[in-house]
Amino acid sequence: KSGMISIVGRPNVGKSTLTNALVGEKIAIVSNKPQTTRNRICAVVNRNDCQYVFLDTPGLHRARTKLGDYMVNVVKQSVADVDAILLLVEPIPHIGGPEAELIGRIKQLGVPSVLVINKIDTVEKEQLLAVMQAYGQAHDFNAILPISAKNGEGVDELLDLLAEFL
Ligand code: GDP
Ligand code: MG
Repeated sequence: KSGMISIVGRPNVGKSTLTNALVGEKIAIVSNKPQTTRNRICAVVNRNDCQYVFLDTPGLHRARTKLGDYMVNVVKQSVADVDAILLLVEPIPHIGGPEAELIGRIKQLGVPSVLVINKIDTVEKEQLLAVMQAYGQAHDFNAILPISAKNGEGVDELLDLLAEFL
């Protein structure tokens, strides 16, 4: 089995840290192709008899500049034509503009989506539950998984879970 998984979320939420954690632990290739039209980082992970191709994307933010505009389009393209989308969010029980926009896009595309709540090393369990609840109400995600990309917690579980979508 093999498939493409796009990692999206606002800037600084930990997309690149997660990509490195996915790669670092298990694997193979990380290639940064800055001059391509899409400016994405592609990481390949082989595990569970699966090949996962992860697309790390520029963070989605409100476009105030031409470059910003361009990056937003990169993100929008990155979620088209993938097998699953990982929406990476901060452990905050509030859905911000970038998250709302990405959730809208996910609904529109009807692609399987996993909500990944990152940085759980920084919050109490109670807050985590509130985050799960807030996002669970916003969209019917295929799965919700709390992780810490920084210390590797939940990264193996994420790969196991994603195998179902490939
Ligand atoms: P990106 O902009 O979404 O790619 O975010 P980065 O991967 O560059 O991470 C942004 C910041 O968040 C960095 O300072 C990371 O060290 C930090 N960070 C990422 N994941 C975690 C995590 O699980 N826990 C904590 N405490 N910090 C994290
Ligand atoms: Mg990044």
